[in-house]
Amino acid sequence: MMLDPLEKLFRDLQLRLEDYLQPVLLNPSYRVFYADGLRFDSSPCIANMVREIGTKISPHEVPGYLSLMADLSRMLDDVVPAFVRRNYRSVLDLMTPRSLSLLVKHRLLKNLSKQVAEYVHDPRLRMLFTFQTMYLGLSPLSAPWVYGILTYMESGEGVWFPRGGMYQIIRALEKIAQQQGVHIHTGTAVQRVIIEGGRARGVQMANGETVPADVVVLNADVPTAYARLLPDTPVARRRWRNSCSALVFCIGYEGRLPDLLHHNVHFSADFERNLQEIFVQKVVPSDPSFYTCLSVRTEPDDAPDGCENLYVLVPVPNRSGQDATPMADTVLAKVLARLEREVGLSWQSVRFVEQITPADWEGMGLWQGAAFGLSHDFFQSTCFRPSNRAPFEGVYFVGASTVPGNGIPMVLISAELLQERITQEVGSKWTKV
Ligand SMILES: Cc1cc2nc3c(=O)[nH]c(=O)nc-3n(C[C@H](O)[C@H](O)[C@H](O)COP(=O)(O)OP(=O)(O)OC[C@H]3O[C@@H](n4cnc5c(N)ncnc54)[C@H](O)[C@@H]3O)c2cc1C
Repeated sequence: MMLDPLEKLFRDLQLRLEDYLQPVLLNPSYRVFYADGLRFDSSPCIANMVREIGTKISPHEVPGYLSLMADLSRMLDDVVPAFVRRNYRSVLDLMTPRSLSLLVKHRLLKNLSKQVAEYVHDPRLRMLFTFQTMYLGLSPLSAPWVYGILTYMESGEGVWFPRGGMYQIIRALEKIAQQQGVHIHTGTAVQRVIIEGGRARGVQMANGETVPADVVVLNADVPTAYARLLPDTPVARRRWRNSCSALVFCIGYEGRLPDLLHHNVHFSADFERNLQEIFVQKVVPSDPSFYTCLSVRTEPDDAPDGCENLYVLVPVPNRSGQDATPMADTVLAKVLARLEREVGLSWQSVRFVEQITPADWEGMGLWQGAAFGLSHDFFQSTCFRPSNRAPFEGVYFVGASTVPGNGIPMVLISAELLQERITQEVGSKWTKV
């Protein structure tokens, strides 16, 4: 979603995006499977959406959909420059006349679910236009209306897939970095940041090597970095609130599942209860909603002939609540049973399953196994989110748990903000990162 930060990155580097990446617009974006049997194809094409809503839900809902998109589009245009693409120094930065007027104009802090309900009435459309906050690991029931911009990025601007898969983005950035003379070390963890006299001197690697540096930029999860990589400070003991976690199943399937598109969303029969279980009771959902992906629909070489690569993502609580790790097989059985009913999956055709559990996410350095980093609630967003500047001279953060937040477009903006901050603070003193 949101190609703009990627395009900006290439513009800033005076390179052509199309020389490195071929983004394909998926249309439909994804298929939604509701528990009552309805299948709905969501699309950034207004004509398609008007037809889907008019024929499958109700023509009376069409005007509400159109005004929702129009209002969200205006909100996105205002919110991104004013609140997202912005380095904060203190809470006062949020109190500017411009920010306050936008807060009132768009009613940004109202409840997302309640606001969407003012535009569309069918519960299935309300789910469709709010569930995107789950990409941030945030419940749409408690999210503020401002997160409706995610709905617009998806339903208004569309969902893109880089030819060759998501990893092509990493390959492209790696290639560009190397062309600019960056040396990338892999396969060795950074054990700690060397701080002397309150300022960065370099990093100590797990293999015993030390790399001297004037500026250290940490891309690790912020709570983990404070707890494990930096000297103890009061920030390290803060009680962070985290996003949810996820069970991921990568399934090798022999046969075809023609009813599934590249992306699919499967809503539980009682979505509200599902959200309460994940975010309030913090228990493994009894009837989980989940997402499925078959990249083979766009990249036929992603699976052997006659087979499909079925990826399943189930949102579950992070490890501050009930740990879904030991329940992975039970959850998988529920998912497969639903796919059997919904799209005719055959259990006998499942050749292998690889799992990623909350314990695995935690093992990868994500605090409490929160797959989507720090929660994006009000007091962990904008000026309240951990700053990209650590309380040591020359130490900075970039990525999902600092400003502005989680997701590939946001972490690219995070890099823009970091570049701006380092240039201002270190300027010509900056010799090496
Ligand atoms: C299941 C799942 C699905 C998602 N789907 C999407 C999607 O469809 N679209 C989207 O935009 N976003 C998606 N996201 C979110 C997106 O992946 C993240 O927001 C993004 O990758 C975060 O980037 P980052 O650079 O902050 O961290 P990461 O991508 O996690 O990179 C941090 C890197 O630092 C390394 N590291 C950490 N500690 C150390 C250390 N001590 N020493 C050396 N290296 C270290 C890690 O190994 C890792 O490679 C998804 C996330 C998950 C979990």
